[in-house]
Amino acid sequence: MKARIVIAGGGIVGASVAYHLAKLGMRDIVLLEQGKLTCGTTWHAAGLVGQMRPNRSMTRMSQYGIGLYSTLEHETGLATGWRQCGSVNVARSPERWIVFQRQAAMARSFGIEVELLSPREALEKWPILRIDDLQGALWFPADGKANPADLAQSLAKGARNLGVKIQEGVRVADLKTRNGFVTGIQTTAGDVECEIFVNCAGQWARALGERHGIAVPLHSAEHFYIVTEPIAGVYPMLPVMRDPDGFIYFKEEVGGLVMGGFEPVAKPWGMEGIPDKFEFELLPEDWDQFQPLMEAAIHRVPALETAGVKMLLNGPESFTPDGNFILGEAPEVRNYFVAAGFNSAGIANAGGAGKLLAEWIAGGEAPMDLFEVDIRRFGAFAADAKWLRDRTVETLGLHYAMRWPRHELESGRPQRLSPLYSTLKAKGAQFGSKFGWERANYFGPKMEYTLGRPNWLPAMIEEQLAVRNAAGIFDQTSFGKLRVRGRAAAALLDRVCANRIGKLTYTAILNRKGGYESDVTVQRWADDDFLLITGSAQPVRDRAWLLRNKKSEEDVMVDDVSAEWAVISVLGPRSKDILERTDIGSARPQPASYVGGPGTELYVPIAEARGLYERIWGAGKELGLKDCGYYALDALRIEAGRRAFGPELSPDCTPYEAGLAFTVRPELRRAPEKLAKRILMFTFPATDIFAWGGEPILRNGRPIGELSSVGYSATLGCMVGMGFVYAEDISGRYEIEVSGRNVPAEASLKAPWPR
Ligand SMILES: Cc1cc2nc3c(=O)[nH]c(=O)nc-3n(C[C@H](O)[C@H](O)[C@H](O)COP(=O)(O)OP(=O)(O)OC[C@H]3O[C@@H](n4cnc5c(N)ncnc54)[C@H](O)[C@@H]3O)c2cc1C
Repeated sequence: MKARIVIAGGGIVGASVAYHLAKLGMRDIVLLEQGKLTCGTTWHAAGLVGQMRPNRSMTRMSQYGIGLYSTLEHETGLATGWRQCGSVNVARSPERWIVFQRQAAMARSFGIEVELLSPREALEKWPILRIDDLQGALWFPADGKANPADLAQSLAKGARNLGVKIQEGVRVADLKTRNGFVTGIQTTAGDVECEIFVNCAGQWARALGERHGIAVPLHSAEHFYIVTEPIAGVYPMLPVMRDPDGFIYFKEEVGGLVMGGFEPVAKPWGMEGIPDKFEFELLPEDWDQFQPLMEAAIHRVPALETAGVKMLLNGPESFTPDGNFILGEAPEVRNYFVAAGFNSAGIANAGGAGKLLAEWIAGGEAPMDLFEVDIRRFGAFAADAKWLRDRTVETLGLHYAMRWPRHELESGRPQRLSPLYSTLKAKGAQFGSKFGWERANYFGPKMEYTLGRPNWLPAMIEEQLAVRNAAGIFDQTSFGKLRVRGRAAAALLDRVCANRIGKLTYTAILNRKGGYESDVTVQRWADDDFLLITGSAQPVRDRAWLLRNKKSEEDVMVDDVSAEWAVISVLGPRSKDILERTDIGSARPQPASYVGGPGTELYVPIAEARGLYERIWGAGKELGLKDCGYYALDALRIEAGRRAFGPELSPDCTPYEAGLAFTVRPELRRAPEKLAKRILMFTFPATDIFAWGGEPILRNGRPIGELSSVGYSATLGCMVGMGFVYAEDISGRYEIEVSGRNVPAEASLKAPWPR
């Protein structure tokens, strides 16, 4: 058998990918389901569909989903159970209420209809709600609910109508590749030749990928809800209600309630593997595990105390190490795509995710900034089954947990360690984790989470002042480092990088739309030997990009050497004096300007890093050298106007929009006639409520963007931030909306430091 595209998995996600590929005009598509459509996880989902996501692009994705769900029945003739009943989210704690105010501001900025309600107003929307301990509520009138199995069947029907072939009872068993490309699959019904394979196998996706060396880091956990008998006051259009402080949600079903939630300490499942035959099956009830949710629910909805419970449903769902789903082309094999790991939001996200993956497949590149869900954000470190199991205990609960600013996950750490880890720990470093690496955030007291002034601020101020007035030493070993070697190495880099490659080049890697795929520095070590330095979370993504752009006849090797080289940076006006007094041995120095002002990054083999650190420290302590961490680094780069990949530089942003056209060689510069958006810098007073990122930027009282980065500047004694403004005319009066308060801000195209 032959097909252009084969999709494995007939849950809502596979059905949505098939539907959207067909909508884009792609033909010759086969969807294979080992059991029956929806028989995996989809059939037993609760069906809540919300639209608010933590950023603009993800929110756009779920808004699209809601639009699709509300029209699909009309298109296919198959009912979806879609009801736009709205959703009420209630806040118990004052901190949650501040978070809701921040969310409401962001929602308005993203163009989502939203309203803040008093407890009384919440009661009007939800008549059997207990409100005496509530601070208030958030009302999203466009949210809704659907019947997951019907929705998936409706998408499948839409796909069939457009020519997709759907076969049930056929399992994808193996993959065939040639020269790193997909060429076909083996199934329980014979071999199929294909160009493109899409793994939408839900909780089976990890094992399916693993067989071919493809990391799909997800793990199953038991996941629960109860269904009650009818309850007085519950009616079909009763809004969905979430009480995140109690970790619970409610939805009307046949006059009763579906009540489920996200326990803070979850129960992983499937450690011995997920059985192939798990069709329309559930797991045994576990009332002990469900007890905390039940108690919270009776507290919030006292009518539950006497309501009859029809069933406690326990169904497995897959969760990922960071709580975001997994989308995109696997870095290990060309034309192998994945959409899986939906963290109990697969019904809400399937519409948007299916569309985005279809566009990615059809267009050959991610259609927009998808870094948060991009499969390339993980490395091999995240694929270990035991590590995933431990992490899943924590990530299920993240769904409703308070996501404090600078929140760090705790499970499965430490994982990847710099040779300086113990030394810095002994000196009081407080660590965060990025791409598995432990990194010093600051040197001081253990972090206490807050929305206000953080307890680490004084320590970070000292670190910043050291860098501006003397020198700071930073461990930046976590940098992604790719060694690019071979006769065609220079040609490949020249083709992929936007700037001409010299001895040391700061440049961009751009996609076909001219947006950032990465922001890198390239060191030329020899004519055919280069070190490409990228962000800590970028090596898998950048390596895949280089290899995809390598011509088959080109002789180039691209190795991830991130764990072979440590990086020690000495930044500040005394850095030169300090390094002149230091024997740097075999370290390779490189000028560093990330925080503005003088500085040097030293690339040193891992084994020599501790010795070098001690020698620098010996030379520097008399000259005011101070250990510093990433919080200071970030605030310093913001005040110096340096853009970072992720918050500012992304596939949706061009060097012109970022104000970095100089990183592009002149012949490639295409100045646009007008800029749809551009980065502005802001300074504004630090109040008792801090800005943490994502706050709306108001121009003449109207939102025109959000802060992409924000920090406290010790030198200026105020908050410094930057963000894209979506307007041609940038003149006017600016404010930043910080947790419901409009704080006057000074805006400029220029960095606030140096003045
Ligand atoms: C209790 C519970 C409540 C939930 N509530 C909500 C909610 O309110 N809102 C929301 O948005 N989400 C909710 N979810 C999550 C949602 O159900 C999932 O995220 C979603 O169903 C995942 O869809 P999927 O297509 O990825 O996986 P699945 O539905 O599991 O589909 C994967 C399919 O792949 C098939 N398959 C596997 N391996 C192969 C192979 N080798 N060859 C061929 N076929 C294969 C399987 O048989 C399966 O049918 C809930 C989940 C649970 C458990």
